[in-house]
Amino acid sequence: MRSHYCGELNESHVDQEVTLCGWVHRRRDHGGVIFLDVRDRDGITQVVFDPDTKESFATAEGVRNEFVLKIVGRVRLRPEGTVNKDMATGQIEVLGKELEILNAANTPPMQLDEHETVGEDVRLRHRYIDLRRPEMLQRLRFRSKVVNTVRNFLDENGFLDIETPLLTKATPEGARDYLVPSRTHPHRFFALPQSPQLFKQILMAAGMDRYYQIAKCFRDEDLRADRQPEFTQIDVETSFMDEEGIMSIMEALIVKVFATHLNVDLGEFPRMSYAEAMQRYGSDKPDLRIDLELVDIAEQMKSVDFKVFSGPANDPECRVAALRVPGGASLSRKVIDDYTDYVGIFGAKGLAWIKVNDLSAGIEGLQSPIIKFIGEDVVSKLVDQLGAETGDIIFFGADKTTVVNEALGALRLKVAADLGLVKDIWAPLWVVDFPMFEADSEGGLTSLHHPFTAPSCSAEELAANPANALSRAYDMVLNGTELGGGSVRINKPEMQQAVFKVLGIGEEEADEKFGFLLNALSYGCPPHGGIAFGLDRLIMLMTGASSIRDVIAFPKTQSAACPLTDAPGAVSSKQLRELNIRLREQAK
Ligand code: ASP
Repeated sequence: MRSHYCGELNESHVDQEVTLCGWVHRRRDHGGVIFLDVRDRDGITQVVFDPDTKESFATAEGVRNEFVLKIVGRVRLRPEGTVNKDMATGQIEVLGKELEILNAANTPPMQLDEHETVGEDVRLRHRYIDLRRPEMLQRLRFRSKVVNTVRNFLDENGFLDIETPLLTKATPEGARDYLVPSRTHPHRFFALPQSPQLFKQILMAAGMDRYYQIAKCFRDEDLRADRQPEFTQIDVETSFMDEEGIMSIMEALIVKVFATHLNVDLGEFPRMSYAEAMQRYGSDKPDLRIDLELVDIAEQMKSVDFKVFSGPANDPECRVAALRVPGGASLSRKVIDDYTDYVGIFGAKGLAWIKVNDLSAGIEGLQSPIIKFIGEDVVSKLVDQLGAETGDIIFFGADKTTVVNEALGALRLKVAADLGLVKDIWAPLWVVDFPMFEADSEGGLTSLHHPFTAPSCSAEELAANPANALSRAYDMVLNGTELGGGSVRINKPEMQQAVFKVLGIGEEEADEKFGFLLNALSYGCPPHGGIAFGLDRLIMLMTGASSIRDVIAFPKTQSAACPLTDAPGAVSSKQLRELNIRLREQAK
């Protein structure tokens, strides 16, 4: 229907007759002349109708925002003084000749430039209008291009795009499953995959050598701001490659994506052990754009009278750490109180601090409610150890190690953002040498990654000291966000059984849940490993979008619903009967 997209017109098209198709972005009536800003996927062009073209002019008078039009007209330079520098097509306009209304539109529930004020529910309910916003179009276009680069890179490196089932058996990645009842097998359920993990490993057992998939994953968990119940992974697996090989090719993939689409050179990614990341940043996904670090000060605090510090300093399950923040002495009492509330979210019982108002004045130059409790000597030593300078504030954490890491780790990010200490750079890294397991709330162990990750030690060593075993897992982190994670896998049934055992999964349960995997491992499964990247998060980071929902065409809300379709919805009693399902009263 069209000869050009609206956004592509420029001075080179002057005097050409063009046919445009698109939506009325804005309509202005200027004393006998009608201006229509016509919008399509590529941009906006101004079309002018004057009363000389009688019929079209009359039609133009009747159009409203979001009507769909077909326009034939001639491109001309805009008259002197009316050039719009802020508009890509601002040098030209189209003098409209023919105008056809392809479809009318009701008054939209939101104008396109009102998206910030209408509330996200309206945007999601009328997503077809929200997605017409140039910003949204741009992000989805960007996403499509990135996926294309990813596919090309993986294809060039010998990875095969292979689909794996969505109706399947539970694949544990630490969340609840979405279940689908089977009609043909009464009382039985499929699970939607939390990831294609087991299938991709089986593809390696099958000799496919290198696999990838842009894969949908489903996880029924309590949603946080940057999570979706249904999300997309760039899922990769490869045989006969160790962690070095896998990390190097996957790093090259991400470097290529950033170079191609943002013209950014990410350079070589540094490596950091999990232990070091926790020690220095209180996080396994450290944001290296921020220089602030946690420093252990338990030694100094062991014999102070102040129990709040000396208690944890003498307890091996606890940590006492300090965070020095340059420029923080200017923080008001109110802000420090807010930070105290903030670290409370992570279980910290308080937030001690020392302001260094004037280093040259010695103890007199310090300001803090805790100096009298820990003594001037210790304070002076601390100030030395931390290299504190005039204008700094020092925050303290003393509690269970996990509480201190989470609280000071989060405070580090918050203070840095508030004081403008986050550098405007891209800071990628690999985090390696993760523990195999972490303690769960019932005193048992759960996998830190997933149960198919290979340990760095032998099965005997694992059985003897599981809590200290390290894994062959690796995470790629960018600006404090986990972009992807993966591992070298277990490829022998004995080792897999040993891990199941540590996890408290007995042989019978292992057989029932993962018998098919154990079988596959026992018929000649090659050494293999892989990774999965969160595509939505990658695009969110690259586009600077503030919400993951802004880079997904049809996202779910925080309560895992879709306002557009009203899913999840009720089903008929006939459908339920076919599925052998009877609903019971909702638990109070
Ligand atoms: N299946 C893992 C995940 O979804 C990624 C991997 O180990 O490849 O996190």
